[in-house]
Amino acid sequence: MNSSKTIGIIGGGQLGQMMAIAAIYMGHKVVTLDPTIDCPASRVSEMIVAPYNDVKALRELAERCDVLTYEFENVDADGLDQVIKPDQLPQGTELLRISQNRIFEKDFLSNRVGVRVAPYKVIKSPEDLDELDFSKNYVLKTATGGYDGHGQVVIRGKKDLASARDLASQSECVLEEFIHFELEISVIISGNGRDVTVFPVQENIHRNNILSKTIVPARISQKLAEKAKRMAIKIAERLQLSGSLCVEMFATADDILVNEIAPRPHNSGHYSIEACDFSQFDTHILGILGQELPTVHLHASAVMLNVLGQHIQKAQEFVRSHPSAHLHLYGKTETKHNRKMGHVTLFSDAPDEVVEFGKGIDF
Ligand code: AMP
Repeated sequence: MNSSKTIGIIGGGQLGQMMAIAAIYMGHKVVTLDPTIDCPASRVSEMIVAPYNDVKALRELAERCDVLTYEFENVDADGLDQVIKPDQLPQGTELLRISQNRIFEKDFLSNRVGVRVAPYKVIKSPEDLDELDFSKNYVLKTATGGYDGHGQVVIRGKKDLASARDLASQSECVLEEFIHFELEISVIISGNGRDVTVFPVQENIHRNNILSKTIVPARISQKLAEKAKRMAIKIAERLQLSGSLCVEMFATADDILVNEIAPRPHNSGHYSIEACDFSQFDTHILGILGQELPTVHLHASAVMLNVLGQHIQKAQEFVRSHPSAHLHLYGKTETKHNRKMGHVTLFSDAPDEVVEFGKGIDF
C-alpha cells in the first residue's frame, strides 16, 4: 500500500513552509496555494499561484490533493465548501467560521465548551457603548478581520470613547473586560479526530502586539498549567479536533481565561521543532491524516525569539555568539519592518537572561 499522500496547503508563509517540511519528512508531497510565487513554502512544495479566495484555484488544489489544510484562519470557508470532496478537509469549515468571528468564538468557548473567557458583550452599533461603567477598563475588538492588536481599542475611561465608537461604527465588535493578567500563555493541542496530544504550556511575551519571545515551560504553578491543558483538551474534544490548534490564554494569579483559538500551528509553538520530540507541525500532519498521535515530550526548557525585519543583523550576531542556538530564516524575499522573517530557538533555564532582539528598540 502506498501511504504517501499529496497534501494541499492554503497559504505559503512560514507556517505553510514548516508544515510542508514536516510532511516531506514523512514521505508526502505538498502543493501550496499562495498569491506570491516565491513565498516561503515555494522552496519546499509545488505551487498554485492565485489569491486564497479564487474558487477555481481552490478547486484545482482539491483535485490535485488527497487532503487539504490551511496555515491561517481567514480562508474563504464558503469557497472551500464548494470544492472539497467529503472528508478532504479534516479540520472542517465549522472551525474556520468559529475562529474567523470573535462573536462566534466567544459563544463557542463560553456556551458550547464551557471554559472561562473575559466577561464580554456583543456590540452591534456605537449606541451599545452608551452607559459603560467606567469603573472598569475594557478592550473593544472587531468581530472579524482583527490581528496582532489591529482592530482593537483599549477603553480606560471616557477619553477613549470616541475612538471606540468609531470602531463600533465600522463593524460588529466584542467588548471585553480588561483582564489584569500576570502572564499570557498558550497551549498547542493536536487531534486526529479521535484522540488528542497536548504540548507543554508556553509563556508568551509580546512587544507592540507582536509575539516577541516564548518561554517553555511557562512560569506558572503546576496547578494552573494542568488547568490550562485541561481547558485546551476540553476545547479540542468538543471540536473532535484534527490537526494542531493553539489556545491563547491569560493566566491571572489564581485562574486561567481563554482569549482566543487559532485552528493551526502557531508562532508560540515553533520551539517544539527542536525542543520537543515531535513538533507542532509533525502532529499537525499526523493529525490531519488521521494517524495515531504520540505523547509529546519536552527535551529541556527552551526560549524562542522572533526575528522581525529590523532584527536580522542582531539575530545573526546572536547565533555567532550562541552557536547552539537554532536560527530559522523563512526565505522571505523582502525584508520589512515588523515582518516575521525567522526565529531563534535555544535551550535555556534562565529565560530572563535571553534578551529579546526588539527589547529597548522603540519601533
Ligand atoms: P488578541 O487579538 O485578542 O490576541 O489581543 C491582542 C493582545 O491584546 C493580547 O495578546 C493581549 O495582550 C491584549 N488583550 C486582548 N484582550 C485583552 C483583555 N480582555 N484584557 C487585557 N488584555 C487583552
